[in-house]
Amino acid sequence: MKATDLLNIAKEHGAPVYVYDAEKITAQYSRLTSAFKAVPQLRLNYAVKALSNISILRLMNSLGSGLDTVSIQEVKLGLLAGFKPESIIYTPNGVSLEEIEEAAALGVQINIDNLSILEQFGSKHPDIPVCIRINPHVMAGGNSNISVGHIDSKFGISIHQIPHLLRIVELTQMNINGIHMHTGSDILDIDVFLYASEILFDTAKNFKNLEFIDFGSGFKVPYKKGDIETNIEELGKKLSKRFNQFCKEYGRDLTLAFEPGKFLVSEAGYFLAKVNVVKQTTSTVFASVDSGFNHLIRPMLYGSSHEIVNISNPKGKERYYSVVGYICETDTFGSNRRINEISEGDILAFRNAGAYCFTMSSNYNSRYRPAEVLWYQGKAQLIRERETFDDILRNQKDVKDLFVAAPAAVDAK
Ligand SMILES: *Cc1c(COP(=O)(O)O)cnc(C)c1O
Repeated sequence: MKATDLLNIAKEHGAPVYVYDAEKITAQYSRLTSAFKAVPQLRLNYAVKALSNISILRLMNSLGSGLDTVSIQEVKLGLLAGFKPESIIYTPNGVSLEEIEEAAALGVQINIDNLSILEQFGSKHPDIPVCIRINPHVMAGGNSNISVGHIDSKFGISIHQIPHLLRIVELTQMNINGIHMHTGSDILDIDVFLYASEILFDTAKNFKNLEFIDFGSGFKVPYKKGDIETNIEELGKKLSKRFNQFCKEYGRDLTLAFEPGKFLVSEAGYFLAKVNVVKQTTSTVFASVDSGFNHLIRPMLYGSSHEIVNISNPKGKERYYSVVGYICETDTFGSNRRINEISEGDILAFRNAGAYCFTMSSNYNSRYRPAEVLWYQGKAQLIRERETFDDILRNQKDVKDLFVAAPAAVDAK
């Protein structure tokens, strides 16, 4: 997408607005599938929570993707977007048995990550195939060393609990058709990831009816210059080879599954916000935009760095700015950024705004959530309207009969 396309979208649909480039999403999808073309069957289940607009889900469906969902609502969104239940995997954490049963009744693949629910579900529904989420206790250390960590993680069934897991499976006679890991950390070092995969293969040998092995996600994309990106091609080569070898040992071809969120949509997204005020203080120049952590919380929540570009003045002289929002709390998007000279009214584009940006937005300060636009084949498709005052009031009950407004305060004389 060109900067002028983004500017035109801001003109037509107003700011703030999220824009997603369909072509980039498609390119990332192809990159991943071609990296793993050597395996007998590959399944990419797009992680809905990264960006859950129903039109994005339809795009994913057209590419041949499945879905990874973490709530019953995401399951329902996926079904509404035309996905078949069998191409949806439901990987919740800490949800009730009732919600898992509701998802199972809709026909989606269940993935269970604790022994308590596994035992209850297996006892009641031994015929419904279940995938199990394993915690391999592996995480990447500083300098490509392998450290055993994540012992405190709330996700997955610890590999040290395999004996108990096997006992539950044997007693309930339930059918384990998949095994899964998702450590949540970025794959910076392929050898560490392969090491964790070995633990998954070892665990897999305990189950006779597997259909797939799901390696979760953790594909890292660059956010700022110099960031390390997961070498997908190298990972594809090495893991495919090992996976095919495992299938031979296992005696059957299995499906290799991944659940990429960020990798597919992060770089496809731009967040456009308008500069309301340029303010000089004694120490810095602030550019305040018509947004805040109500629309894009990642920089404040976990310190992520989104590149900020002034698309209204791309040739302007570069200066140092702190870009901040309009929320009545500190909401700094970026400090000491070199940006082409900013004037009030300019449109700033925040890059890598596809994943975990709109989906984490809120109505804090009683502001509207922004519009969303899909850029497809050179045209801007509005895929979500900007909210209105009715959305702020929706579901509120006004108990106006309970209270009478106090008389106006009298000036002290
Ligand atoms: C969030 C999540 C993903 C996606 O992670 P990304 O870093 O966005 O690729 C995959 N699997 C599960 C179970 C998740 O919770």
